Amino acid sequence: MTRPLRIGMLGGTFDPVHIGHLRAALEVAEVMGLDELRLIPSARPPHRETPNSSAEHRLAMVRCAVGDLAPLSVDARELARDKPSYSLDTLQSLRSELGAEAQLFMLLGWDAFCGLPGWHRWTELLDHCHILVLQRPDADSEAPETLRDLLAARSEADPMALSGPGGQIAFIWQSPLAVSATQIRQLLAAGRSVRFLVPDAVLAYINAHGLYRATD
Ligand code: ATP
Repeated sequence: MTRPLRIGMLGGTFDPVHIGHLRAALEVAEVMGLDELRLIPSARPPHRETPNSSAEHRLAMVRCAVGDLAPLSVDARELARDKPSYSLDTLQSLRSELGAEAQLFMLLGWDAFCGLPGWHRWTELLDHCHILVLQRPDADSEAPETLRDLLAARSEADPMALSGPGGQIAFIWQSPLAVSATQIRQLLAAGRSVRFLVPDAVLAYINAHGLYRATD
């Protein structure tokens, strides 16, 4: 019997993509034995401020960063949509593509996980996937009240023990890298270097297009 596909997804604004995203994605893909881990840039995040770079630039930077580094891949489906990119829609469309048996893992940084109750129809997300919460070094340690019942009911201590297509939550540890896109935008706006915080190809793209520079 063939085992079901194991597919991960990491959504984000990626404004810009950085080594925190990339190391987390690669390490989780390796540890979890994923067949593919898709980085999915979001179009108009409904629960966030407008990103500072256009969707085209953000997508191009994720493509530069990932290159052909399997099992990472880039999925532009949210940018093709002409409406807010709700994660639930993305999960439903992935699920219809991958079939009912595939194991789908949605990766969320701790900060994103804590914001889950603000998401569109968030209680239905686990109908379509498992959630892997990435430890993030700059995060607070207490889960918000609204998530405690969900955590109590759906947590699995060992991410490798998540079974079936979806429905459970596990925490996963990777090399802690306290890097954020906010920090990178601030450094660039201040005329400082972001070398080694983003892949060289992303830095070259940022420079070539003059992104994130302070305008006066
Ligand atoms: P910003 O600073 O603009 O809020 P960000 O660096 O948090 O951006 P996002 O594109 O919002 O980047 O992040 C996408 C996903 O990656 C989120 O789930 C986020 O929690 C996670 N993530 C971001 N940075 C890291 C990091 N350094 N380590 C682990 N996970 C991260």
